[in-house]
Amino acid sequence: MARIVMKFGGTSVADLDRIRHVSALVAREAEDGHEVAVVVSAMSGETNRLVGFVDALAADTKNGGAIDDEYDTIVSSGEQVTSGLLAIALRRRGIKARSWQGWQIPLQTDGAHASARIKGIETLAFNQSLKDGIVGVVAGFQGISPEGRVSTLGRGGSDTSAVALAVALGADRCDIYTDVDGVYTADPRIVPKARRLDRIAFEEMLELASQGAKVLQTRSVELAMNNKLPIRVLTSFRGIDELNPGTLVCEEKKTMEERVVSGVAYARDEAQISLLRLRDEPGVVARVCGVMADANVSVDMIVQGTSRREDSANLVFTIGKRDLEKALSALDENKDRIGYDSVLVNDKVSKVSVVGIGMRSHTGVAHTMFSALAERNINIEVIATSEIKISVLIDADMTELAVRALHSAFELENP
Ligand code: ADP
Ligand code: ASP
Ligand code: MG
Repeated sequence: MARIVMKFGGTSVADLDRIRHVSALVAREAEDGHEVAVVVSAMSGETNRLVGFVDALAADTKNGGAIDDEYDTIVSSGEQVTSGLLAIALRRRGIKARSWQGWQIPLQTDGAHASARIKGIETLAFNQSLKDGIVGVVAGFQGISPEGRVSTLGRGGSDTSAVALAVALGADRCDIYTDVDGVYTADPRIVPKARRLDRIAFEEMLELASQGAKVLQTRSVELAMNNKLPIRVLTSFRGIDELNPGTLVCEEKKTMEERVVSGVAYARDEAQISLLRLRDEPGVVARVCGVMADANVSVDMIVQGTSRREDSANLVFTIGKRDLEKALSALDENKDRIGYDSVLVNDKVSKVSVVGIGMRSHTGVAHTMFSALAERNINIEVIATSEIKISVLIDADMTELAVRALHSAFELENP
């Protein structure tokens, strides 16, 4: 007997037929004698619909009170529905099951609404229920804050609910079921030649996820890596008896280093801000970053270059598009303290990254990457690197061309 956590994303529970199919996948594990905890997302499109309501009201109330803590109450409701529906579908198959909301477990988080971090999971009651042979169907994405309010874990957060639960329960397996049959060398929806990887190292997956490959939420990979818990990514769109090997996200193996680049990722959710004619003096970048941090805006890529005037510099950086308004008003309020001339915004950019642990021991990756982009006439705005990644900021219209060009430049279609 094993203890298994299974997670099903939005497309996997998109309607009652999909939920019935998921109940068959879960029932099989339960009938095999395993203890099963299931984490579900909202039906696909539902969270966006709910966020739309909040945004619409927020637009009405520009000068009204904060909306942050009610956001979570509203957008977490999609998961409540699917957890109940799956529990019913399981009971219809003769499987004992019940739903659990985040606050009922409880899954405790910090108070950062809309992007809360998990602080702990109280497993006593949940554990007992599993031991009693009851499948626990958990509403993903949600928890309870120190103030006793509903909190949510950021978009894609059900992956993190699942991994955290698997760690807390000491699960033998954590299976993330989604609408693709594993982790690919690039998003298979934009690179038809992308190839499923049998295995990928935690660090590579972490980098791919944080650079935009939304197949797993970044925090879920971080948690799995820190706890050395392998996760399997597989599809829920296959019959229960069909082969479904998926991708194992696990610790690095010697053979993985032989691949220089393992994957290409892209993100369209960033905006580029350029501060022109900043005073060229020590501390200026720190002031800009301080202003952004105080406004709760995280800065991603940063470059500083000299401007045409000798005593001034230009600073270019990127932030999440959702934070753009907040960032611009903070910059405006602190214009004199920072000391810049003008600000330019470009929200039609995207970030494209190549990732691979083999980069540590191989040279020439940057050359191959920049040559492939140059051949397609793709202009690079900003470059950022880490030990196992190179990212470039480019014109958003060039995203797909760039991703495909890099995929073939590194011959990722070949095993
Ligand atoms: P779920 O609703 O199951 O959580 P998501 O939509 O969050 O599913 O994530 C799955 C999607 O991630 C896929 O449909 C695919 O388009 C996208 N994706 C992006 N990069 C990759 C990649 N490298 N491998 C597989 N899927 C990827
Ligand atoms: N339903 C949430 C979202 O769409 C959480 C998730 O699906 O993981 O972001
Ligand atoms: Mg997801």
